[in-house]
Amino acid sequence: MHHASRITHYQLGLIGYPLSHSLSPKIHTAALKACDLEGNYSLFPIHPEDKQGLKDFLNQVRAKQIHGLNVTIPHKQNVIEFIDELTPTAKSIGAVNTIYLKDEKLMGDNTDAMGFLTDLKKLVNKETSKQVNKSALVLGAGGSARAVIYALLNDGWNVAIASRRVEQAKEISSSFPNHASRITNYQLPITNLTDLQPSTFNLIINTTPIGMTPNINESPLPENLSLTSNIFIYDLVYNPRETKLIKSAKQNGNHATTGLGMLIEQAALSFEIWTGKKPPREILYQTVVE
Ligand code: NAP
Repeated sequence: MHHASRITHYQLGLIGYPLSHSLSPKIHTAALKACDLEGNYSLFPIHPEDKQGLKDFLNQVRAKQIHGLNVTIPHKQNVIEFIDELTPTAKSIGAVNTIYLKDEKLMGDNTDAMGFLTDLKKLVNKETSKQVNKSALVLGAGGSARAVIYALLNDGWNVAIASRRVEQAKEISSSFPNHASRITNYQLPITNLTDLQPSTFNLIINTTPIGMTPNINESPLPENLSLTSNIFIYDLVYNPRETKLIKSAKQNGNHATTGLGMLIEQAALSFEIWTGKKPPREILYQTVVE
């Protein structure tokens, strides 16, 4: 976006640890090709403890040797101290997943929230978003939960957070003081959904890794829990392609999806920040499911 006209070869990449299973190189390589741009997207593993390594590495962005970086576990919060300026979104969420240089300043943004919300809107149809009562239950209170909760609050949802460590959920609540009245906290595991709130939720989002490969027979919701079929289920886990949570929900007649759409959308939004070009989502999706 900022130096797009002067860059002839985009050096992009991902910092995190471990990175061997990342789908991001596939997605961004397809995006470069679809937008007719030269460049590559590399994996840069940086050890969780290696703060100095992280700091030194970011200097390559300052030196314009690298034009864009994504950040994943465990560095989404670690990078903040080395960034010159956070976007309002990254600041509110308290985590960075996208880094770039703007006017010689190292910028930190977060596209997870908008990536989630954009994909959520494909699942939740217009009638539901028009409902007066937009009530979501978020399972888990880790890094991705923060982005999801930020997105939901800004889209007008009431949010219940269920986590196994209640302090963690309370900490998230206190970081959104303007929305305090729309957040409630509960403890995991949930044995009876009706214990949570008299009004039913119309959306449940899993932000825990429960059900992720290799633990594909696990679900964050108990087996015997009966869900009314008007509840939408969004699972951030996208590996396997269909998690146990999503399989059971679909069998029950609920609209449900895994987080592959969010993964693609957050990647595409980062790519737009770096290059100013809008990669066609359908092509990126095809690349990943092939
Ligand atoms: P994280 O920061 O480690 O947070 C995970 C959360 O889940 C923590 O609150 C953790 O609680 C909780 N948790 C873990 N195991 C649990 C269990 N057995 N019972 C109850 N709670 C449990 O991880 P994250 O970055 O948020 O990522 C979470 C998942 O989302 C991963 O599977 C990741 O692949 C996926 N994700 C997908 C996308 C996408 O684009 N689709 C984006 C980001 C993340 P404790 O703190 O108590 O352990």
